[in-house]
Amino acid sequence: MKFVGAHVSAAGGVDLAVLRAHELQATAFALFTKNQRQWKAAALSSETIEKFKQACRQYGYHAAQILPHDSYLINLGHPEQEGLEKSRAAFLDEMQRCEQLGLTLLNFHPGSHLMQIDEDKCLARIAESINWALDQTRDVTAVIENTAGQGSNLGFKFEQLATIIEQVEDKSRVGVCIDTCHAFAAGYDLRTEQDCQHTFQLFDDIVGFRYLRAMHLNDAKSAFNSRVDRHHSLGAGNIGHTVFSYIMRDARFDQIPLILETVDPSIWHQEIAWLKSQQLSPSL
Ligand SMILES: [Zn+2]
Ligand SMILES: [Zn+2]
Repeated sequence: MKFVGAHVSAAGGVDLAVLRAHELQATAFALFTKNQRQWKAAALSSETIEKFKQACRQYGYHAAQILPHDSYLINLGHPEQEGLEKSRAAFLDEMQRCEQLGLTLLNFHPGSHLMQIDEDKCLARIAESINWALDQTRDVTAVIENTAGQGSNLGFKFEQLATIIEQVEDKSRVGVCIDTCHAFAAGYDLRTEQDCQHTFQLFDDIVGFRYLRAMHLNDAKSAFNSRVDRHHSLGAGNIGHTVFSYIMRDARFDQIPLILETVDPSIWHQEIAWLKSQQLSPSL
């Protein structure tokens, strides 16, 4: 079974995100549980929590279909103590918000060395941050997203994701989310079915499908291996539609949120319908 949806707005309350997903006929969705561009947010009220849970029950979404995303400000590999502590506290708060909402996944970008510490040190710091947050929570899995490798962002190579996971103590609560646009921009080709086979084989060899907890389905405005993160609508960018059809027909991508972060929300409805239709199509 495939869970397909988009990163919907939570404006007006997290419960409204559920309704927006339902209106798209999505079987999965992503959301921010607080304003993603601010450090601080008011605690979730028990009323909001109840409304969210009620909406999930009403529209048939369970935790495995929902992929909360943390704030863009958080850098779990921050080279400076002050920035690191601020990031860790904010990340723990995000995890606790997920727990309050009954959610079990938290998607985040690993972190950046800001040209101040070397790559291995930064990766170790990210793993330490994850260990620290997992120690203080119970039900949420830390879902590391691969990046395009823009600026000093780490996590653009599968090896970097594997290095972080290696250093996480509780392997049952760490996973990855692969963003197709980021992978393509980082030099993993996905344009042909053969490219898809090759890239996902590499992923399996280096990280392992057992750690795959979500996917972001985005075409790329950015060029192959450009290390630039620019999303596009499915089939409209430099990757093309093949990989998205491939994912929909491959059982290794079953039972995890497959989330659009494409640039035109007005066609998400069609993109979701098209993705669903690919499950039934014969091989390319
Ligand atoms: Zn993404
Ligand atoms: Zn992106």
